[in-house]
Amino acid sequence: MRASAYPLVEVAAAAELVLDRTPILGVERVALAHSIGRVLAEDLVAPASLPAFPSSAVDGYAVRSADAGKPLRVLGESAAGRPFSGTIEWGTATRILTGGVLPDGADCVVMVEDVEEQGDLVIVPAGLRPGQNFHAPGADLRAGERVLTAGLQLGATEVGLAAALGFPRLPVHRRPRVALMSTGDELVEVGKKPGRGQIVDSNRWALLAALREVGADVRGLGIAPDEPEALRQLVVDALREVDVLVTSGGVSVGTHDLVKPLLESLGTVHVGRVKLKPGKPFTFATIPAPASPHPGPPPEGGREKLAFGLPGFPVSSLVTFEVFVRPALRKMQGFAQLQRPTLPVRLAYDARATADRTEYQRVTLRREGQELVAETTGSQSSSRLMSLAGAHALIRIPPGDQGIKAGTTVEAMILALP
Ligand code: AMP
Ligand code: MG
Repeated sequence: MRASAYPLVEVAAAAELVLDRTPILGVERVALAHSIGRVLAEDLVAPASLPAFPSSAVDGYAVRSADAGKPLRVLGESAAGRPFSGTIEWGTATRILTGGVLPDGADCVVMVEDVEEQGDLVIVPAGLRPGQNFHAPGADLRAGERVLTAGLQLGATEVGLAAALGFPRLPVHRRPRVALMSTGDELVEVGKKPGRGQIVDSNRWALLAALREVGADVRGLGIAPDEPEALRQLVVDALREVDVLVTSGGVSVGTHDLVKPLLESLGTVHVGRVKLKPGKPFTFATIPAPASPHPGPPPEGGREKLAFGLPGFPVSSLVTFEVFVRPALRKMQGFAQLQRPTLPVRLAYDARATADRTEYQRVTLRREGQELVAETTGSQSSSRLMSLAGAHALIRIPPGDQGIKAGTTVEAMILALP
């Protein structure tokens, strides 16, 4: 099929095609230190209540509330990790420190600031209530309670909770292995001085950052030339070791654009053109894994591979990454939430539409009273990376000749909040 013969697919349909073909990767149990930033693969249920014992919230005295207003004999001390083993009878108390176990017989704690200490006696104020100043067992969470839900990313709080409940390892989804390659004879490595007609390969670095940010395990494969056999060899070798291939460049209809025909020859191209600006030549293919010599289901990583051929223009490559690749890589890792969050924003500029394609315009946001107001980042040329620099959101402008007038409130895809 000639590249130009690929049907122009709606953005939503293309995104759905991609996700339909995207597998959720297997589960591995990793130590807490390695679980940070990963996605929990199973619900986490509390095996025990927290706190496990009645735990003092303050420094003071553990007493019976019915002894309010009386001088009490101090029997000893209950410090954190050093419980008092006796029982509080009528007319007695123990010193208690924050985190100490409330001794048997006591039903409240009086803050040290509220008592009068006289030798081995302590005078407690009137009007004590049972349950004062300590955390009852299960007050924070109860045994059997679902504490974390599968599909959540593990951050500070989640890892802390897991540790508090006694889990040294957590089940998480495997991270996708991604091979990243730039294509184009005009490209030179960053740090080298480009000759006439050459440009520095910047997409590989931008995409490396985007891939890392979304949690991929990336292998950088450098720059592939616009030469069919060399490109094929690089791609075939790369696919052996990864779940996903991401390339940039070489997907337009020029005679040097070799990625589509290559993917077509290796597997199936599901999306060859999208009604998207920037990013019309976006290409998505699946490639069968090399046949396994072993019978039975394919091993992890031995399944169909995904290939994303991103357009060469820097903004096109990053916008198509946002729209198609990022949700797919999140799905692979088991994220419950695949898409960026959206918020209503008021346009501060007249957004012109493109006749035949949905345009994803880059905007900055600012607060005005209760509202978020969107301002264009300037020229939306697909070569102008500055249109994405500092952008807080993407605004979808439907195709047609209408556009969207300044003052209209639209739903924005949030990349970062101001
Ligand atoms: P292509 O999709 O290969 O036709 O590339 C379109 C344009 O994108 C090229 O003319 C370059 O200006 C630019 N481009 C392609 N690859 C890269 C890259 N890796 N880094 C920066 N710009 C690129
Ligand atoms: Mg090229």
